[in-house]
Amino acid sequence: MRLNRLRTTALALIFLAFLIMYLGVFSAAILPFALVIGTILIMVSVFIYFRVGAMSMKIPTLECPNCHRMTKVMGMEDGCMYCGVPIRIEMDEDENLYAVQNGEVPVKKK
Ligand SMILES: [Zn+2]
Repeated sequence: MRLNRLRTTALALIFLAFLIMYLGVFSAAILPFALVIGTILIMVSVFIYFRVGAMSMKIPTLECPNCHRMTKVMGMEDGCMYCGVPIRIEMDEDENLYAVQNGEVPVKKK
């Protein structure tokens, strides 16, 4: 869920960059600044996309306890990417990670 929010932020940054550069077209005085700011914003959003891609390789994919789809959980607590239910990561005795719905007492697997 946090990953999705980051992706949305990056997309919004790209649109903002194009908007600023487009505004530069109307005035020769602000064109150089508009181009520089626009280019920086695009670089920032490319960096965010890159980070999101790198992070999603590392973070565990767990089954959501609510909708039973595989979702990526960032940190110890995160929302499901599909249904938005808060998820907490638990670890069993064999060090296998599994997801529980936040606030629920985890059921011990035997
Ligand atoms: Zn879910």
